[in-house]
Amino acid sequence: MKKTGKIFPSIFYSICIYGFLLSADAGSESAFNLVEIAPGNYLHRGIHAGFGEPGHDDIANIGFIAGNRCVAVIDTGGSISTGQQLLDAIRMFTGKPVCYVINTHIHFDHVLGNLVFVEDQPEFVGHVKLTDAIELNMGFFLEEFRDDLGASPSEDSIIGPTKTVSDTLSIDLGNRTLLLTAYQKSHTYTDLTILDESTGTLWTGDLLFRERIPVIDGSLKGWLAVMEIFKTLEVSTIIPGHGAPASNWQDAMAAQQEYLTDLFDETKQAIANGQFMEEAIETVGQGEKDKWLLFEQQHRTNVSRAFVELEWD
Ligand SMILES: [Zn+2]
Repeated sequence: MKKTGKIFPSIFYSICIYGFLLSADAGSESAFNLVEIAPGNYLHRGIHAGFGEPGHDDIANIGFIAGNRCVAVIDTGGSISTGQQLLDAIRMFTGKPVCYVINTHIHFDHVLGNLVFVEDQPEFVGHVKLTDAIELNMGFFLEEFRDDLGASPSEDSIIGPTKTVSDTLSIDLGNRTLLLTAYQKSHTYTDLTILDESTGTLWTGDLLFRERIPVIDGSLKGWLAVMEIFKTLEVSTIIPGHGAPASNWQDAMAAQQEYLTDLFDETKQAIANGQFMEEAIETVGQGEKDKWLLFEQQHRTNVSRAFVELEWD
């Protein structure tokens, strides 16, 4: 793996968040469709393509936060090309350097664009377990996403953290402080959120899915517990890893809460009824079918993971 040098709430916005979305939808195109979703917070919305489909490298919500001194990038997309488009757009918005690249977790659609940002010699920041996760996934990334990793992919194409977070970490962009929080095993075992304290904007990474079906790659119980913590946080703008931003937890999390709770309850019941996993996969959570995009692609895997986790409870 390439190592880089270590140079390295307002109510108004709660009201206006949908105004921004409307104006974006109405065609106020900006570079790479970046929208200033809260002051100094620029979001590029990922599309809802499936993993093997065209556009699969641009499915995550990614963006940047600008301070007086420098810029923090939040996730870099699922390819060198997506990362480059984000970097080019940042250069159009500001001449300030990128001093931090923050990865919210290990999944390919959030990390594979990291390489293009090394030219500013930022700190690459992630969960304390992200370093090992990158090493573990290196072969998988190089095999599955070879075409997304530039002309001659190698282990040097995939950049891991130079700075890690085991609990919380504050970073300063110049008159703007970001609070990074590492979470227990939930969506994955490498989940990190970013709170822009000056605007109350929380970037949740994939601890929050909207529209697109949540992916369980860590712990269902852990994720439900993290959502209880989220509800105690006072924030003005919530930016999920996939789907539309929201201005309160009820709007942001209701659908995911229902999905994960149903999955937990019905999997528990299936186990109590003596069902085998194969049976549970066909029955659990089917009431959620019409509520999520890409349900058929992901739901059965979620049930199998829930089953394994809850089987020995
Ligand atoms: Zn993810």
